[in-house]
Amino acid sequence: MRDIKIDSPVESVDIRNSSRSELILGIEGTAWNLSVGIVSEEEVISFAESAYLPKSGGIHPREAAQHHAEKIVDVLREALKKMKEKGFSEEDIRGVAFSIGPGLGQSLRIVATAARSLALKWRVSLIGVNHCIAHIEVGRWMCGTEDPIVLYLSGANSQVLGYMAGRYRIFGETLDIGLGNALDKFARSVGLKHPGGPEIERLAQKSSRYIELPYTVKGMDFAFSGILSAAKKLAEKYPLEDVCYSLQETVFAMCTEVAERALAHTQKDELLLVGGVGMNKRLQKMLKDMCEDRGARFYTPPPEYTKDNGVMIAYTGLLMMRSGCTIPIEKSRVNPDFRPDEVEVKWK
Ligand code: AMP
Ligand code: MG
Repeated sequence: MRDIKIDSPVESVDIRNSSRSELILGIEGTAWNLSVGIVSEEEVISFAESAYLPKSGGIHPREAAQHHAEKIVDVLREALKKMKEKGFSEEDIRGVAFSIGPGLGQSLRIVATAARSLALKWRVSLIGVNHCIAHIEVGRWMCGTEDPIVLYLSGANSQVLGYMAGRYRIFGETLDIGLGNALDKFARSVGLKHPGGPEIERLAQKSSRYIELPYTVKGMDFAFSGILSAAKKLAEKYPLEDVCYSLQETVFAMCTEVAERALAHTQKDELLLVGGVGMNKRLQKMLKDMCEDRGARFYTPPPEYTKDNGVMIAYTGLLMMRSGCTIPIEKSRVNPDFRPDEVEVKWK
């Protein structure tokens, strides 16, 4: 028995049979996670993934792309198998969405090639999804939030965004490296395993001793590389737990400050936290407290939809396809530097 409504009034281009719920398959592969999600408008139908974990050091672009190329068929097969177990068939897939950027060029190209092949095979629409916007849309879907300020903190990206005049505008962002990458680099320098964010969180829980670090908020932007260097120096003479605690307190306070200012300036009253760093409990607590203090509501999706995942690409693909934002194969070139404010949001 299928457990979804099949009579939803979905408006879409390229619907071959409107009596069944349309499904979109989405492929994410901008960096470390190769992931395939299949969604209907109502729910997640299927989800499969394979994470690239570097043997040593951080993400190596060529190795990540090789990982994606090796695993893409298995991950797709698993996602389609799970979909079939729910009573659907490939005929129900009306569009193939993929992460077109931003991300690592080589990885993006593997994913784009797979998506193009599937769209041709199934004769369905192709949708190129901005990875950052996908984080936002899946967060809005999972949390039921309408018009939030978004704090998007992942490995390579760190931005504060909000919808205004037809686009997700970037109100503030990192001036150098992403927060996740800063945490990963610090972790690596002190011998912790990759990814470093969860390791730092684990150690930080053992301390409450704050050692001063630079605090670098500039207007609505922030910067992390100077703090990273200072934290590395501290780690030479202080217990690691104390440095991890101080590092978290500093960088999370910076993000909280900018997010609060974005709420104040725009007079929005919802905050949505997305991106892998968003899984951090201390960060969530700081943001929740800040929101409570100013009468705003705080949201963050379940962890599997906070980090990079295929479901976010599939769901955003569904929204985009319904508003006609599909692309012809010949224009589906990947864009490693794709910024979210380049996208006209036609589905809101
Ligand atoms: P994403 O690219 O959105 O999947 O995010 C990946 C980043 O999230 C990596 O840099 C991780 O170190 C970071 N991350 C994952 N879990 C945590 C955590 N609990 N605390 C802080 N950072 C985390
Ligand atoms: Mg991401």
